[in-house]
Amino acid sequence: PVEVLIVGGGPAGAAAAIYTARKGFSTSIAAERFGGQVLDTMAIENLISVPYTEGPKLATALETHVSEYDIDVINLQKAEKLIPAAQTGGYHEIVFENGGTLKARSLVLTTGARWRQLGVPGESEYANKGVAYCPHCDGPLYKGKRVAVIGGGNSGVEAAIDLANIVAHVTLVEFADELRADEVLQKKLRSMGNVEIITSAATTEITGDGQKVNGLVYKDRNTDQEKTVELEGVFVQIGLVPNTEWLRDSGIELTKFGEIEIDAKAATNIPGIFAAGDATTVPYKQIVIAMGEGAKAGLSAFDFLIRNEAP
Ligand code: FAD
Repeated sequence: PVEVLIVGGGPAGAAAAIYTARKGFSTSIAAERFGGQVLDTMAIENLISVPYTEGPKLATALETHVSEYDIDVINLQKAEKLIPAAQTGGYHEIVFENGGTLKARSLVLTTGARWRQLGVPGESEYANKGVAYCPHCDGPLYKGKRVAVIGGGNSGVEAAIDLANIVAHVTLVEFADELRADEVLQKKLRSMGNVEIITSAATTEITGDGQKVNGLVYKDRNTDQEKTVELEGVFVQIGLVPNTEWLRDSGIELTKFGEIEIDAKAATNIPGIFAAGDATTVPYKQIVIAMGEGAKAGLSAFDFLIRNEAP
């Protein structure tokens, strides 16, 4: 057993581990894929004080920083179950897919999230080559270009408003016959001069020239006609899903979207269990935010351990 076990090895998990290790607590990280979403990212231009980096490079930097400390990194381990301690200060247990278990007096859950994909031809092929999921991250790369946003919920309409301020033209494509976003957002979007809204449209393909995206094909659900939009970028905004399915019966409180409920100190509803990053209710899912939240969770784990002896 260790004092602190971090489940998840993205920016949040790495930050939490460095903070608890620096307090002298024995710390392990167990992760399905150390590096997390960062590994799937190309250019990163909003990690403050690092004007430009790339995902794999940042993942290596996280690993290097973690390895400066006596932190046990257990990679390629998928957590399947959490069994909370019977008493405050006792050992929580994590059960892994391979049947192994690890125990710790404090846990930091940082299993992140994944963008829901459309699942149409061209989407994976052109990921990072015109297909994007994060307007805060990739919006500026499309300055002066034409883009589409798929999805007319709040995140889709927010993305379209955001992008319309940066790019030449935005086409918002929604499957249903109306947008689901808040009225105030819809009104704002409709007031913008360089936006077209298409409803009842099922996106069927993202096309490209082999190198990068050049268009989008959708079926008009009223007429069954196929139509094409010429563009340089497609932002898919049909949901960000937290990787918390494994926590469903654990007693950890989740929102109806599956986000781990945390307070301002990154505490969950169970004493000694903290959470950070994209898997939680923290607003805005970004690397710099995940790192800050991970640091917070690490300090909270420290605070818990100095106040609670093992029973
Ligand atoms: P993640 O990075 O998702 O890490 C989660 C960790 O938990 C991983 O190690 C994963 O393997 C592990 N895990 C998941 N489930 C389990 C399980 N059951 N058991 C064990 N381990 C598990 N943000 C920016 O700030 N700037 C950008 O430019 C940017 N670009 C992006 C581009 C893309 C394509 C994507 C997908 C995201 C981008 N983001 C960007 C968002 C950013 O990557 C995330 O906000 C950030 O990585 C969240 O960190 P995290 O540690 O909370 O979770």
